[in-house]
Amino acid sequence: MIKSEEVIEVLDKIGDKIIEEKDYLTELDRPIGDNDHGINMAKGFTEVKKKLPSLKGQDLGSIFKTVGMTLVSTVGGSSGPLYGTAFMKMGMSLTAKKEMSFAEFLTAFKAGVEGVGQRGRSAAEEKTMLDAMIPALKAMEAACGRGQDAREALKEGAAAALAGAEHTKELIATKGRASYLGERGIGHQDPGATSFTYMIQTAAEQF
Ligand code: ADP
Ligand code: MG
Repeated sequence: MIKSEEVIEVLDKIGDKIIEEKDYLTELDRPIGDNDHGINMAKGFTEVKKKLPSLKGQDLGSIFKTVGMTLVSTVGGSSGPLYGTAFMKMGMSLTAKKEMSFAEFLTAFKAGVEGVGQRGRSAAEEKTMLDAMIPALKAMEAACGRGQDAREALKEGAAAALAGAEHTKELIATKGRASYLGERGIGHQDPGATSFTYMIQTAAEQF
């Protein structure tokens, strides 16, 4: 079982990683966006890191909901409401739970990914964060189905997210700012798919 203290620890490390990669994520957003993805995400996760200590002892639902609300209220740009929705949906799925099995985590993550699609009116292959999230979800579900443990499943999820983020270079964006560029966006990796890859890589390393 995964306990809320462990989740707080992982979220804190995710915050560190996002803050560490701030400049690179912003750089990715320059050619196909407005040069602010890393700035937006680092701002949001700086606030998340400040809130985490006060969440000790709370259930997983409250922890994820607070993270989501913090991202919505502090991140300017579309990534704030989108990541915020993902974390809030995960929180709703984990209401009142002090610990979760990996299967429960996957159910929550699936709700989060679906939440992004609904909020962003987006789907796979549109050159967004979903192009890392959906492959990660599928890989972890498949790993679980083969009886792999959480550690192995997360590793496979992280590898699938990375491959998905790299694949966004080949895609033409049909959602978000990158869609204004059309074919000229080809060759550029999506910033949001990259920030999500950092999150799941960090989670996999922490396990
Ligand atoms: P903004 O585009 O408002 O400047 P950010 O730069 O912080 O916001 O985030 C851009 C990222 O948000 C993109 O790289 C993409 O992954 C994601 N994104 C944008 N629009 C959508 C959408 N409709 N659905 C899913 N993800 C999206
Ligand atoms: Mg931007």
